[in-house]
Amino acid sequence: MIPVSPPPTGYADHMTTTTAPPTTSPEEIADAVRSARAAQLGWASVPPADRAGMLRAAAAAVRAHTDELATTLESETGRPAASGREGVLAGASTLDQYAELGPLHRGKSLQGSPEATDFMIPEPRGVVVALTPWNDPVAIACGLLGAAVVTGNTVLHKPSERCPRTGELLGQIMSPHFPDAVLATVTGGGDIGALLASSPEVDVIAHVGSSETGQRIAAAAARTGAKVLLENGGNDPLLIDADVDPEWAAEQAALGAFANAGQICTSVERIYVHTAVAPRFLEALCARAAAWNEHPQPLVDARQRAHVHDHVADAVDHGARVLVGGHIPDGPGATYPATVLTDCLPQMRVLREETFGPVAPVRVVPDFDTGLDEAATGEYGLAATVLTGSMDHAQRAWRTLPVATVKINAVFGGAPGGAAQPRGRSGNGFGYGPELLDEMTTVKVVHVRSAPCPSSH
Ligand code: NAD
Repeated sequence: MIPVSPPPTGYADHMTTTTAPPTTSPEEIADAVRSARAAQLGWASVPPADRAGMLRAAAAAVRAHTDELATTLESETGRPAASGREGVLAGASTLDQYAELGPLHRGKSLQGSPEATDFMIPEPRGVVVALTPWNDPVAIACGLLGAAVVTGNTVLHKPSERCPRTGELLGQIMSPHFPDAVLATVTGGGDIGALLASSPEVDVIAHVGSSETGQRIAAAAARTGAKVLLENGGNDPLLIDADVDPEWAAEQAALGAFANAGQICTSVERIYVHTAVAPRFLEALCARAAAWNEHPQPLVDARQRAHVHDHVADAVDHGARVLVGGHIPDGPGATYPATVLTDCLPQMRVLREETFGPVAPVRVVPDFDTGLDEAATGEYGLAATVLTGSMDHAQRAWRTLPVATVKINAVFGGAPGGAAQPRGRSGNGFGYGPELLDEMTTVKVVHVRSAPCPSSH
């Protein structure tokens, strides 16, 4: 979701915030759920075009507050405001998109016999809880909130505890455009998220975040019967074929692994490079990593940095070589250098788990098929990239890789409105695009048949 930027130049010492983050109490959560439930039928009876009009006004308000949202996010997560602005504008566009699509969302009709018609109508599911992460919080929240409210649901949004003020600000900007209790923001950590996820009054739990949390939410929803929509972590491979320019491959690899300090759900997490181009590719990747390290972007916090460094240390313990970076620097903030590792082995955590930091672990493979086999392994199934000049290899890759999105010859990109279904630990359902309207609704079939004419005697 994060728009691609060149290497960041800003440095925010965002670790210095001292005031306690806002937290909603369990009693207030119960009240908020009750209010959302009470408001839902009234909101569902508002004509779709009117709901869309309110959403359009909310989108304009978000756009008008772009700078404020981006600087608040920078102060909380260290993401440079210039890059944060792109996320806010992407979020506002998504709200506009759902304002257009919402009133057009409809089912099909069937004529089963000459006297009867069946029609399928989407209805709101009820109360939606949206649990969102910190790495692109405005864009992600806008997608879920827009699709949920335009289809007639009421929504409780809980932003990440790592950016609660950004989430609250988004709520203050958007919610006045809707009737009371249609869109409310609550704050707190995983315990508050868990409270919402276990409420029997909640109909949909939409979670964008880590796979571990997604599994806990799915378990809670199995008890209440709520629908679960999960967009979770990834361990995306980049596969580099023998026939590509190694300089260009290195540019793509660096962008994929280091943009936003590697904190993008579809960051490049592991690299399989054909032996024919490996030496020149590694040399070029190291040069690019060194360039990124001239303007390091901090990670979200020291906890995340410790997690990233654990992966690097585990790789080194098992025989990987650090070519660039790989150490915790002195100084304030949670900076971690762009890091290049080689001689990586499949069992290393850095290849098996999501690192979510600026680390490019490289494995040299003897041929394309070996790389494709290794890229296809693992528990996650979010996205994968293949750089190749061979149409045959590209076709084989997109047919066989068990992931939601396969990108050929570009680490980032994709048409606006695109949506795919993650596999394995990466989640399930459509978290984006027009299909998200289907996820936020449930279909009723109405069968209408003419009554027989009254008998004449
Ligand atoms: P996280 O799962 O820790 O937190 C996300 C939200 O879930 C937060 O609001 C959090 O408070 C809440 N939460 C935590 N524990 C909970 C529980 N037990 N019950 C209910 N809610 C709970 O994730 P994060 O660290 O904020 O985000 C980073 C992760 O998000 C990475 O794994 C990244 O890949 C993933 N992500 C995925 C996508 C995608 O589209 N697939 C997009 C962005 C980020």
